[in-house]
Amino acid sequence: MPVLRDFFIALSENQFLNNAAQKYGLKLGAQSVVAGTNIPEVIESIKELNSHGISCTVDNLGEFVSEKSEAILAKERIIETIEAIHENGADAHISIKPSQLGLEIDFDFCYENVMEIVGTANKYNMHVNFDQETYNLVQPTFNLMEKVRETYDNVGTVIQAYFFNAKEWTEKYKDYRLRIVKGAYKESPTVAFQDKDDIDLNFIEIIEYSLLNCKFTSIATHDHNVINHVKQFAKENNIPNDKFEFQMLYGFRKDMQLELAKEGYNFCTYVPFGNDWYGYFMRRLAERPQNINLVTKQVFNKKTNTMLGVAAAAFVLGRLSKRKKE
Ligand SMILES: Cc1cc2nc3c(=O)[nH]c(=O)nc-3n(C[C@H](O)[C@H](O)[C@H](O)COP(=O)(O)OP(=O)(O)OC[C@H]3O[C@@H](n4cnc5c(N)ncnc54)[C@H](O)[C@@H]3O)c2cc1C
Repeated sequence: MPVLRDFFIALSENQFLNNAAQKYGLKLGAQSVVAGTNIPEVIESIKELNSHGISCTVDNLGEFVSEKSEAILAKERIIETIEAIHENGADAHISIKPSQLGLEIDFDFCYENVMEIVGTANKYNMHVNFDQETYNLVQPTFNLMEKVRETYDNVGTVIQAYFFNAKEWTEKYKDYRLRIVKGAYKESPTVAFQDKDDIDLNFIEIIEYSLLNCKFTSIATHDHNVINHVKQFAKENNIPNDKFEFQMLYGFRKDMQLELAKEGYNFCTYVPFGNDWYGYFMRRLAERPQNINLVTKQVFNKKTNTMLGVAAAAFVLGRLSKRKKE
């Protein structure tokens, strides 16, 4: 359903709605896929997952920051989160979004912020994953990671299989810890596969290459077909369990998360938290229209109805005016 996908992607990029959502707190069902708005709440969620043998990667929500002051605040919150993970003896590492730390403002400014974060994590032997965002930020994110790697080696990144260059990047960064995903943003057909089958094929090809050649692979998907394929492939190729892990997002396919951990696979849940949940949540709705079930009647109040109504009208008008121009 490409129209629904486009609709939710457009919503995820709407700054007005993002600001409004931050004021209202966790709404629209986001509380089932966002582990709270503050550090004590996220630590509690991590501890609960740890008790089932699941480790976590923690994302202090926020992205596409345009003011230096916001990026500095985000850096401070992430450092506080690292300290809290350490103090509480939680089994977790950190995922950062470079755009939240100023990558679109100034590379050197972002580098300084990221160095402080990675340096703090390094004291505690904690890994830091650089999440990948939209295409324009992919190469700058690789550059950032390579520059930080000159000082610290506790860094890794994400390969988005929908990009034509994904295999080439996997080969180039095989000495890093890599998370392989399908890709969550709307990208141009000049740089990325658009067809689901093409993306799935590339995803499998890259995962297999990574399992055979890379330092450590995180296979991040909710797709049971891919997970079953990986299990079989690892068995046939004698890939030991300590060379890879499965990852899923907090709140999704909880039974399968527990089952994989029980079966003895390394399992890591991506745990997002914070007030800036809106863009993240809309991308989850874009990925799988059935996730709209998360938007339950109980939380559907007048304000959220109005927000979605305004958004739907803006989207339809936007499409109509685009069509007129074409
Ligand atoms: C841990 C993690 C980290 C990520 N980090 C990034 C990142 O840094 N950058 C980025 O661009 N993207 C990231 N993503 C998002 C990713 O790129 C995909 O957009 C997202 O995972 C959806 O693709 P999928 O592989 O899960 O399966 P999909 O293609 O969405 O689904 C495939 C099939 O799996 C089944 N399925 C999927 N979800 C469910 C469900 N909830 N319940 C039941 N069945 C289901 C259905 O049969 C579906 O048809 C991340 C994803 C995860 C899990």
